[in-house]
Amino acid sequence: MSEQFDVVVIGAGPAGYVAAIRAAQLGLKTACVDAFVGKDGKPALGGTCLNIGCIPSKALLDSSKRFHDIEHNLAAHGISTEKASIDVGAMVGRKDKIVKQFTGGITQLFKANKVTPIAGYGTLHPNREVRIKGHDGSEATITGKHVILATGSVPIELPFAKFDGKHVVDNAGALDFESTPKRLGVIGAGVIGLELGSVWKRLGAEVTVIEALPDFLAAADADIAKIAAREFKKQGLDIQLGSKVSAVEVKGDEVHVTYNDGKADQSLVVDKLLVAVGRRAATKGLLADGTGVEINERGQIVVDDHCHTAAENVWAIGDCVRGPMLAHKGSEEGIAVAELIAGKPGHVNLDLVPWVIYTEPELAWVGKTEAQCKAEGIPVKTGSFPFAAIGRAVAMNETAGMVKVIAHAETDRLLGVHMVGPVVSELVAEAVVAMEFHGSAEDLARICHAHPS
Ligand code: NAD
Repeated sequence: MSEQFDVVVIGAGPAGYVAAIRAAQLGLKTACVDAFVGKDGKPALGGTCLNIGCIPSKALLDSSKRFHDIEHNLAAHGISTEKASIDVGAMVGRKDKIVKQFTGGITQLFKANKVTPIAGYGTLHPNREVRIKGHDGSEATITGKHVILATGSVPIELPFAKFDGKHVVDNAGALDFESTPKRLGVIGAGVIGLELGSVWKRLGAEVTVIEALPDFLAAADADIAKIAAREFKKQGLDIQLGSKVSAVEVKGDEVHVTYNDGKADQSLVVDKLLVAVGRRAATKGLLADGTGVEINERGQIVVDDHCHTAAENVWAIGDCVRGPMLAHKGSEEGIAVAELIAGKPGHVNLDLVPWVIYTEPELAWVGKTEAQCKAEGIPVKTGSFPFAAIGRAVAMNETAGMVKVIAHAETDRLLGVHMVGPVVSELVAEAVVAMEFHGSAEDLARICHAHPS
């Protein structure tokens, strides 16, 4: 007989591990299955976010910002140093240490909350039976009264630019370069392309970003995207918009990229090429025949508003379902589903999931853009304020950017708050709170804010 659990979670990323811990805290006997193997060859909890995503990229963004500041920004403060040097190995080593600290932290949290971790590849069979193939070839079967699918996402591979881990890399590869590439090409000016492009640009690489869409950061508010584009250009990031890549060829130690910028064919020769054209739900090998779980045309697991799939007591959360592919969205869904399973109310407001891009300046927003409001026929009024007029920003010498507030023209209800500027990743939380409480622009304005922030 296979071991019975109240809840079996497949996937230990920020959606799955949070769901597992919350379920266990609510008194449910919980197991969490995960196949990820870390750089040291050992199973590691935490999924993409902790191992090869949010956490390591933030570590490198921080290190590279410090280096860049020494090189370019300290003179304005009257500080001069000998020329800074960089040990990429040490920088990556620090990043790996942080990753280990966090993945080890999940192991401790599982222990403390009595979640049973199971290393291996899980497949869901009918009647919520989960069969696990261990890394050593072993096989095990467990069953759950409830199963939560939280298998995350994988990078989309372009057919003509296969990842080889050496010259043509995905986000994981671009976190582990042994030295700063002299020339880095990036396909896709999205979140990963801009964050990791910024890391290596700050460390001295010539970075060219090739983006298919004619508009820069189409998901952001146009006024914010415009400022960001201007600042990135000033930093020397060469962003080619409206450009379609047609061929990628590795020749010796070089990558030759052919693209059309809408006018003519262009060629680009780089030492490394990061392909960051989006991610897709990871469901390969997850579902045996007859589970009743449905997959849509985009490859996502189909769920209702409460993350329940078409199969009884099978739930799905995080990147493998609809909605933004953001760690915090997955975690919120994990908590909501665990609470629903335990008979409590649980809900995630997908309209108010904040976005942050950790470049410099940072971008952060919540709610609708002005263009979205227009398209939906919502009458709006907007107000914006530049960081150049904020005392703290001037004192920091980081004045690029602004905050833009969009409110309903008649009711004044907040519809969207959009920011580009210093540390807006932290500032956006205030807008999320105000909007969750259905606040108005006036509510936000009447809150006492600490001067000179
Ligand atoms: P993305 O969707 O953010 O950006 C992909 C970009 O590639 C888009 O601008 C798209 O137009 C472009 N593109 C697609 N096909 C192309 C082609 N053939 N040639 C040129 N351009 C092409 O995806 P991403 O940057 O790969 O990130 C994946 C996911 O990871 C995103 O959903 C993102 O939200 C998430 N992520 C979030 C953070 C964060 O929250 N700070 C950080 C990293 C990743």
